[in-house]
Amino acid sequence: MPEPVEVKTTENSSKPEIGVTGRKIIYGKDGKPCRSCNSLLDFQFATAGMTKGAPVVPNVPSPKIKENQAVAAKKEKYNPYAKDIPPDVEVLGKSSWTLLHAIAATYPETPDDKKQRDMKQFLKLFGNFYPCWFCAEDFTRFMAKNEPKVETQDSLGRWLCDAHNEVNAKLGKPKFDCNLWKRRWKDGWEEED
Ligand SMILES: Cc1cc2nc3c(=O)[nH]c(=O)nc-3n(C[C@H](O)[C@H](O)[C@H](O)COP(=O)(O)OP(=O)(O)OC[C@H]3O[C@@H](n4cnc5c(N)ncnc54)[C@H](O)[C@@H]3O)c2cc1C
Repeated sequence: MPEPVEVKTTENSSKPEIGVTGRKIIYGKDGKPCRSCNSLLDFQFATAGMTKGAPVVPNVPSPKIKENQAVAAKKEKYNPYAKDIPPDVEVLGKSSWTLLHAIAATYPETPDDKKQRDMKQFLKLFGNFYPCWFCAEDFTRFMAKNEPKVETQDSLGRWLCDAHNEVNAKLGKPKFDCNLWKRRWKDGWEEED
């Protein structure tokens, strides 16, 4: 059985520096582990470390060994000429919604005027350049009727949720409960959800 890992932490804190995958843990500007910058495993590990004191990770090989394993596995698996094909409307859509909702999840809670202007501009340009032209046209029409709500993180998240629901309705898919957008895209679900 592997020995418990000695976890490297920063001075006088329980913030681990290296995750269980052997990669450096990335923290956000708020000092908390950054969900979209780390692997899920490392994020959970770092979050546990911060909420419950010094992290204890039994049964995990040492970070260095894990890192070497991960690098080796990547070298073996990664093939830039694998016959992956260009995205269809569904793959493109899912990836794009993931990006948009993840951007909302990291948008400032109270953005300054410039950030708000930039976000409006970004959404406009996103609509101009979205590769599926008829999707782009509908999204741009939606924006013309429903001006993006960029005043706060929550207003943007809910506005995007509404925009996504508009497409869901068009495709005959169920409506997503926009009160839950942060659980899906920012905080994660509670045990009891
Ligand atoms: C701007 C835009 C316009 C599009 N227009 C069209 C179109 O006109 N025709 C077309 O065929 N496809 C369109 N698509 C693609 C389409 O919306 C889906 O992405 C695609 O059909 C794949 O659907 P999916 O079932 O994998 O989940 P997706 O709809 O891609 O959703 C991904 C995940 O988001 C979560 N989710 C679902 N609804 C919401 C919501 N309202 N708010 C927050 N989270 C939610 C769920 O957890 C879901 O699993 C568009 C995509 C984008 C980004």
